Amino acid sequence: MASAAAAPARPSPPKLNPVRVPVPEEPVEARTGDFREIVHAYSLQDAVLEAKRCIQCRRPWCVEACPITQDCREYIKLVAEERFDDAAKVTVQDNPLATSLCKVCYRYCEESCVIAKKGVPIAIRQLKRAALEFGNSDIAYIPSTPKGQRVAVVGGGPAGIMAAWELGIRGYSVTVFEQADLAGGLMRTIPAYRMTDEDIRNDLRRFRDLDVVWKTDTRVGTTLRPEELLKEGYQAVFVSIGTSTHRVMGIPGEDLPGVYPALSMLKAIHQGQYPQLGTNIVVVGGGDVAMDSVRSAVRLAHGGHVRLVYRRGRDEMPADREEVHGAEQEQVEFIFQKAPVRVIGTDHVEGLVVQSMELGQPDAKGRRTPVPVAGSEETIPCDTLIVAVGQRADLEGFPAELDFKLASGGWPEGKGPGYATAVPGVFAAGGKSVVYAMGTASDAAKAVDAYLCHLRGETPGPRPDPFGTSATYKLPAGYTAPIRD
Ligand SMILES: Cc1cc2nc3c(=O)[nH]c(=O)nc-3n(C[C@H](O)[C@H](O)[C@H](O)COP(=O)(O)OP(=O)(O)OC[C@H]3O[C@@H](n4cnc5c(N)ncnc54)[C@H](O)[C@@H]3O)c2cc1C
Ligand code: SF4
Ligand code: SF4
Repeated sequence: MASAAAAPARPSPPKLNPVRVPVPEEPVEARTGDFREIVHAYSLQDAVLEAKRCIQCRRPWCVEACPITQDCREYIKLVAEERFDDAAKVTVQDNPLATSLCKVCYRYCEESCVIAKKGVPIAIRQLKRAALEFGNSDIAYIPSTPKGQRVAVVGGGPAGIMAAWELGIRGYSVTVFEQADLAGGLMRTIPAYRMTDEDIRNDLRRFRDLDVVWKTDTRVGTTLRPEELLKEGYQAVFVSIGTSTHRVMGIPGEDLPGVYPALSMLKAIHQGQYPQLGTNIVVVGGGDVAMDSVRSAVRLAHGGHVRLVYRRGRDEMPADREEVHGAEQEQVEFIFQKAPVRVIGTDHVEGLVVQSMELGQPDAKGRRTPVPVAGSEETIPCDTLIVAVGQRADLEGFPAELDFKLASGGWPEGKGPGYATAVPGVFAAGGKSVVYAMGTASDAAKAVDAYLCHLRGETPGPRPDPFGTSATYKLPAGYTAPIRD
């Protein structure tokens, strides 16, 4: 009997290495006495080793999960091939805040990396940093043909910077009005152990040949009214004022000396102006601002005791897990399921009265709702209380006709398609993190471009190449749809 023909050999799947090359970090004992950088860059050899773990998925899950569609699969491939200049170019090609994001992005890409199913995802953010550190990242963006139209951007945070970039590379003349002395927005409250203004300056240096003017120390809304910008010759306005004001707990005693709103405290610390805190510090909150507050407090408490009070449990904390882990390593004590009731003290804070919480039914976001337990009050003694319970927008001077919608995170948005407000030519957006704010701003900037093209009687096209070649933007091969939460 003739033997059956042997079946063709199937290609074996790529070998998957589940173990991440360790990311170098400053040891805990060395780092808590000052604000030195904690996470360091990979060495060149380690970056290449880590990049070689990537199996270059046909469908780029990591890119689909990035709110700005950063082609991380491509820069990882280039790092693996030791082509660092090319990797750096790919990195800044879709991302005008690459240097800042390689330090502070919440790594949505890593959550979707397929390697996470078997082990630790590829260190995608850390490889962005390697691309920028070992390749030439000081590449100037080049505008396409000038459009002869002016756009005002109000607020120079990540959303405003992204919009200025999207419009600048399309050839628009952009003026960014920023009330602070440097663009960057809330990135300028992140403590220096994670990032500094130098990272923002390095990113903005690539804008040098675009027609983008940074009008700092200029607030829109008081003497300069937003609606007047349209009359002054700006054909469109993008409002990206974010959330520059802190929320309060709304409990008695909150105005006692020794009680600090986290936002203003972190802003001062970012600039190297350290407040005189006590040695028995309590921080209220469970988000990233609370994590930056406890970890900054550890560095300013001179060996004192730092506690965090949060009204839900550990699993419900919205803070980044890496930050929670860092705070735990730095001996922060976490007190869960306690909500603040009142602050006590005569001429200075002496304690925080809290009430126990039971976790009830899940809310719309799936987080269990805290329910007060009657008769469970107790006092946590402290000499410093830091309040990190959220931020809101400062809308003073913005007319009601804009009819903003306030997002759950507090920033104003236009209700129409492309974040258009009720006033023609005015758009508004922001976001829950640096890269999410950039993603919404990118969508809004495309809508601004479409609006201005319409005024010129032209059809909008894809994003031009930011380095001035005739190529236009294409989605990476295999890309299907964005993954967003
Ligand atoms: C302490 C802290 C730590 C954080 N850590 C991280 C992190 O690690 N990673 C991350 O991804 N995100 C982090 N975030 C969140 C992130 O910073 C924000 O989501 C992001 O900055 C929002 O960008 P935005 O441009 O929408 O608004 P913003 O960053 O708030 O920027 C708005 C800008 O508008 C300016 N402005 C406001 N009103 C006016 C006006 N009337 N006229 C002119 N200018 C005005 C403000 O000065 C500001 O520069 C952190 C936030 C805080 C507070
Ligand atoms: S910007 Fe953030 S989410 Fe996007 S690829 Fe980089 S680290 Fe990942
Ligand atoms: S999902 Fe992970 S393994 Fe796949 S291409 Fe992206 S980084 Fe590489």
